[in-house]
Amino acid sequence: MTTKQIQAIRGMNDVLPDQAHPWEFFEDTVRDWLRVYGYRNLRTPILERTELFVRSIGAATDIVEKEMYTFVDELNGENLALRPEGTASCVRAVIEHNLLYGGPQRLWYWGPMFRHERPQKGRYRQFHQVGVEALGFPGPDIDAEHLVMCARLWRALGLDGVELDLNTLGDAECRARYRQRLVKYLERHEARLDADSKRRLGTNPLRVLDSKNPELAGIIAGAPKLVDDLDESSLKSFEELQALLREAGVGFRINPRLVRGLDYYNGAVYEWVSDRLGAQNAVCAGGRYDGLVEQIGGKPAPACGFAIGVERLLALIRDYARAVPRVPDVYLVRQGAEAERYGARVAERLRDGGLSVLLHCGGGSFKSQMRRADASGARFAVIVGDDEAAANVVSVKPLREAGQQARASIGEAIDLMKKGVSSE
Ligand code: ATP
Ligand code: MG
Repeated sequence: MTTKQIQAIRGMNDVLPDQAHPWEFFEDTVRDWLRVYGYRNLRTPILERTELFVRSIGAATDIVEKEMYTFVDELNGENLALRPEGTASCVRAVIEHNLLYGGPQRLWYWGPMFRHERPQKGRYRQFHQVGVEALGFPGPDIDAEHLVMCARLWRALGLDGVELDLNTLGDAECRARYRQRLVKYLERHEARLDADSKRRLGTNPLRVLDSKNPELAGIIAGAPKLVDDLDESSLKSFEELQALLREAGVGFRINPRLVRGLDYYNGAVYEWVSDRLGAQNAVCAGGRYDGLVEQIGGKPAPACGFAIGVERLLALIRDYARAVPRVPDVYLVRQGAEAERYGARVAERLRDGGLSVLLHCGGGSFKSQMRRADASGARFAVIVGDDEAAANVVSVKPLREAGQQARASIGEAIDLMKKGVSSE
């Protein structure tokens, strides 16, 4: 009788050890990148109260209407949600712990997000984001910092062809004016709208511009533009941002249709897109959300930020030359009763000396252990038998280059192998 296998949930992926090194390369690069800009790490729980996302992202958005994993905690009746994004949690934590009393905050987070979407290339139900948020800064200098930062990360990862689409949503009043004009226009074309867009016409008409339905492209292209309704100060700030980007040499194009799928945005918004990703072309998205802190119950504070879609970004990295799989420096082969004990001690000494060591476990012949050593990719085999144990030495055999097997004290062996490793 065989027991039925249990499989992972659709749209939620395992990253297997053979696929992990691009992730590790990305994580290392991202940590260095955040450090040189002085951002500090914030870690929040994956579960939050559903209310947090409804209030921030907006009730009439795709995420809240149909993509959130929500459930009632059976033990206490609380309505909970797996986080669909990180900004709301970040703002909640900042308010809850009064972080803004210490002055403006530059923060980042990293981790899985959950959305019940139709799984396809570049769209998963568990995916990962790196998010960067700056709270307490009115901009547009900080908005420019974020975009300059992104451009630096694309360079560090060796990406080209990631392009910046930029727009401004203005303040709440100008959006209300624009909304009226847009609704009038869309009503004239109502017969040609799809069911989703018809519904949004009543609830959240700006979202129609965000539709991915190619049949609506013509209607969307002909829609009135928000820029004609913009208030003075949004317009001025947007022009300053563009000047800062030109100064920094960050290219962009203005996309008047860019509205973003979350309600909390105002002012400058943007998406970094690549034409190599097919329909799921945005790798990073963000903008200003000056009303959100107050909306979640804090004292009003301006803020902005962005999130990178890690899976989509990894799909863009072509040059994995720097993302080489990690191999151990040493594979330790040990045979004989005394050598087993001695070998385990030697492995710890080598690690004290800064080398990475795979200690052979599970016994077996010398030949089979050497086969494992080869297959591990290690630079050296360190071999100990009862002879070596008695003499308190080891035998070192280079596995990746010509060279004789040689006996050495543990200290000499460390020096020898570290020279070999660092000369790579
Ligand atoms: P899209 O328009 O592609 O649905 P979005 O506007 O819903 O994106 P955001 O909420 O702005 O996405 O999230 C920021 C980034 O996270 C996106 O640009 C994308 O790279 C990534 N992302 C969003 N949803 C998914 C998903 N379901 N699977 C993989 N990556 C995602
Ligand atoms: Mg989406």
